[in-house]
Amino acid sequence: MHHAHPHTFSDDIAELTGQDPSLCYQCGKCSAGCPVRAYTESPPNRVVRYVQLGFDDEALASQTPWLCAGCMTCSTRCPKEFDLAAFMDAVRQLGIARGVKPPVADMRSFHESFLSQIESHGRAYELGLVFSYKMASLHLMQDVDVAPEMFLKGKIGVFPHNVRNTDAMKNIFRRAAEVKE
Ligand code: SF4
Ligand code: SF4
Repeated sequence: MHHAHPHTFSDDIAELTGQDPSLCYQCGKCSAGCPVRAYTESPPNRVVRYVQLGFDDEALASQTPWLCAGCMTCSTRCPKEFDLAAFMDAVRQLGIARGVKPPVADMRSFHESFLSQIESHGRAYELGLVFSYKMASLHLMQDVDVAPEMFLKGKIGVFPHNVRNTDAMKNIFRRAAEVKE
């Protein structure tokens, strides 16, 4: 008897990222180099395992996709060339689409503030990001003590450095919004 394969969370991720989560064979090389591993309850490869096994709720409840810095260390190290950074991004997007409350407080505000900076400037504009995040999260005084040193070390630019073609970036966001609808 033939059973149709029901559409899974893993399929949703495969559609968003163009890569099948079952590619991952759980070697753990990604997690060994992940800079946020120490701050989360699950190493990144465990989140992939959840998805492989159909534990969607566990994957969506994990802090790891929300704390993922998108640094690509995992993606460049993976012997299977699995783009784990893109996988984490997809888990976040699908969580938002399903109305899941991010398990890390204010991460959604940060995520959306970051994306709005990319949409406007084509790259991160730190001062704009700080301002937009503080307005969204209402943590107005958070981390103000480190600001002077960051300015002095040139970590926070006063003006944005836009990419040459900001219209192209805005088009990408417009197209993505159309696809979502
Ligand atoms: S390095 Fe690649 S194959 Fe190994 S656990 Fe991480 S994602 Fe899976
Ligand atoms: S992209 Fe995310 S999951 Fe991968 S190493 Fe960086 S922080 Fe960890």
